[in-house]
Amino acid sequence: MPGAAQIELVAVERVFHLGDSEVHALRAVDLRLAAGDYLAVMGPSGSGKSTLLNILGLLDRPNSGAYRLEGRDVTTLSPEEQARVRSHRIGFVFQSFHLVPRLSAAENIALPMMLAGVAPKQRAERVARALKDYGLADRAGHRPDQLSGGQRQRVAIARATIMQPALILADEPTGNLDRATGEEVVRLLEALNAGGVTLVVVTHDPALGARARRRLLMEDGAVASDMATAVPGPLSQATGAGGPPPDAPR
Ligand code: ADP
Ligand code: MG
Repeated sequence: MPGAAQIELVAVERVFHLGDSEVHALRAVDLRLAAGDYLAVMGPSGSGKSTLLNILGLLDRPNSGAYRLEGRDVTTLSPEEQARVRSHRIGFVFQSFHLVPRLSAAENIALPMMLAGVAPKQRAERVARALKDYGLADRAGHRPDQLSGGQRQRVAIARATIMQPALILADEPTGNLDRATGEEVVRLLEALNAGGVTLVVVTHDPALGARARRRLLMEDGAVASDMATAVPGPLSQATGAGGPPPDAPR
């Protein structure tokens, strides 16, 4: 199943119940993303950004509403089927990296392939290539606590992309990094998008938000605005066109 992911959310609701109280984390969220799109999700803390990303990443299910990923309704899939889609089509990058502390950089990167049953020889080859591609060749045996923040996030990106996903979801990927290191991480994500992967990045940084092709502003669980940004992002640069690509949404 090659190619980038195309996404459609319709009237998605997510309510959390805490004792007697209810938290409406997402309210009637509609979102359409073309294959290869680049979306920044912004908004105040508690506005539903992570909940939205978790639903897109099949880590959480909506209470109601539809989610079609690549044209297929994924809300009714069994947990096993969802895990399979997640493993083969989706890569997640988190603010706090979420690496396995006891595993080396190489082992962390190999993890998704172990879970997917990729043969050891192929696994080793792909890990070696990823370590090289992400400038980590001399850090293969280091554990996360022996790596810098930027190196940890590069391991996390290598792990998120090792199965060649169609969709990359990044939840404040630069939140724990200094500016220069954060910039480097954003460039890596944008390079993946330029290669055709659909990219969704949650960020508090307006400069970063302005680099995406589209900006979604969340407020109190609802989409407050959904705008094309003035400056076309890497997708249009990658296709060599000045404007949006032919398959751009709307
Ligand atoms: P953001 O990422 O924009 O800061 P979240 O999506 O994490 O916001 O949270 C949206 C709202 O849902 C918040 O009010 C938060 O407290 C609540 N929430 C998120 N996850 C849970 C959960 N697992 N249980 C209960 N409430 C939650
Ligand atoms: Mg969040």
